[in-house]
Amino acid sequence: MECGSDKVIYMDNNATTRVAPEVVDAMMPFLTDCYGNPSSMHTFGGQVGRVVDEARKSIAALIGAEPDEIIFTSCGTESDSTAILSGLQTFPEKRHVVTTRVEHPAVKNLCENLDNLTGHKHKVTRLHVESDGTLDIEEYRESLSEDTAIVSVMWANNETGVIFPVEEMAAMAKEQGIIFHTDAVQAVGKIPINLKDSAIDFLSISGHKLHAPKGIGVLYVRKGTPFIPFMHGGHQEHGRRGGTENVASIVGLGRACQLASEKMEEENSRVRYLRDKLEAGLMGQIPRSMLNGHKKDRLPNTANISFEFVEGEAILLHMNQLNICASSGSACTSGSLEPSHVLRAMGVPFTAAHGSIRFSLSIYNTEDEVDFVVDNMPKVIANLRAMSPFWNEDNN
Ligand code: PLP
Repeated sequence: MECGSDKVIYMDNNATTRVAPEVVDAMMPFLTDCYGNPSSMHTFGGQVGRVVDEARKSIAALIGAEPDEIIFTSCGTESDSTAILSGLQTFPEKRHVVTTRVEHPAVKNLCENLDNLTGHKHKVTRLHVESDGTLDIEEYRESLSEDTAIVSVMWANNETGVIFPVEEMAAMAKEQGIIFHTDAVQAVGKIPINLKDSAIDFLSISGHKLHAPKGIGVLYVRKGTPFIPFMHGGHQEHGRRGGTENVASIVGLGRACQLASEKMEEENSRVRYLRDKLEAGLMGQIPRSMLNGHKKDRLPNTANISFEFVEGEAILLHMNQLNICASSGSACTSGSLEPSHVLRAMGVPFTAAHGSIRFSLSIYNTEDEVDFVVDNMPKVIANLRAMSPFWNEDNN
C-alpha cells in the first residue's frame, strides 16, 4: 500500500506519531538476523537479552527511574489496566477509586467496568475540571478517604494537552497510604519527568506517542510499591508480566527515549513556537474561534480550538482534501455525535464543542506547514459557515 506520508501535513501526533528513522534503524536487526529469545540460555538469545536491558536503561533514564522499575507491556492501555487492578487487588478491603472526568478511555472505561471485572462493588470519584480543563486540588484533597485504594490521574490530557499537578497529588495520596497511578502516555517525551523524588507509584507509557512503534508500552512500578501482575505466564519481567518480549519494539522504544532526551529542548521551544504561531494565526483570522484548555499549563505541541457553528467532522473532511491531518473533538467514535467527554466536562457549549479541532504537532512539523494551514483554514471555516443554518453575520 502506498501511504504517501511525505505529502500529508500531519498534525495528529497525539493520536500516533511517525516512527523515527533512527528507531527503525535500531529495530531492524531484531526483525531480521537477531531473532533469539532473550530468555534462552544460549549466547544467541542471551545477546538479545542484553539489548533489552540496554533499552530498559534508556527508558528509565528519560523518566528518572531505575531500570528494574520498568516493566514492558503491549500498550498504554495494558499499563493502565495493570496499574489500577493491581492497586485494587493489593487492598481488597478498600473499595474507593479516585480519578477524573477527562481520562482517556483506557482509564475511563476500565473504571466504568470495575464491578464486573473484580466482582466487588466499587465507588469511583470522578473529579470535575474547570472551564480551562484544570483540576480543583481542594476537591481532590477532600475526595481521599480511608477507603481509597488507588488514585489514577493522567499527567497530560490527550485532547487539550492540559497538564495536571500529579506530583503534588501523589504526595497527598502517599500521606494517606494510597497508591497513585498516572497515565503519562501523552506527557512522556514531551515534557521533562523525573520520578526520582516523586511519590508516584505507577506510571504508564505508550511507545507510539513518542516516535516508537505501536504495540509497545511500559508500566513504571516504584521500588517498594506492592504489585500484582495482570498477565500471568512465564518468568519474563521477573515474573511481573508474562509473555515473550516484543524485542524489536522494546529496542525501538529505548532508542526513541534516547532521542526524546536529546530533543526535549527542541520540543519545548521550536514545537511550542510552531504551535503558538498556528494558534495565533487561526484564532486571529477566524471569528468566533476559541481555545479549549489552559493557555500555559499545557503540552507544548497541542492546540485544541473550537470554531463555533460548524461541525468538526465537516472541517476534518475539508482539511483532508488539503492533505491536512488533525482530530475532531466531536468524533463519533461511539456512533453518536456527542461531543467528547473532555469538552463536556469542561462545560464547552455545544455549538463550540461540535466544532472543535485538535492540532497536535511534533518535531517533524515545519513552519511552511503551519503557514499553509493558517492560510487555508479560514476559507474552510468560512465556506462551511456559509452553508450552516446556525451561522449568520450577526454571530460574527
Ligand atoms: N492514555 C492516553 C492519555 C492516550 O492518549 C492513549 C492513546 O491515545 C492511551 C492511554 C492508550 O495508549 P495505547 O494506544 O498504547 O493503548
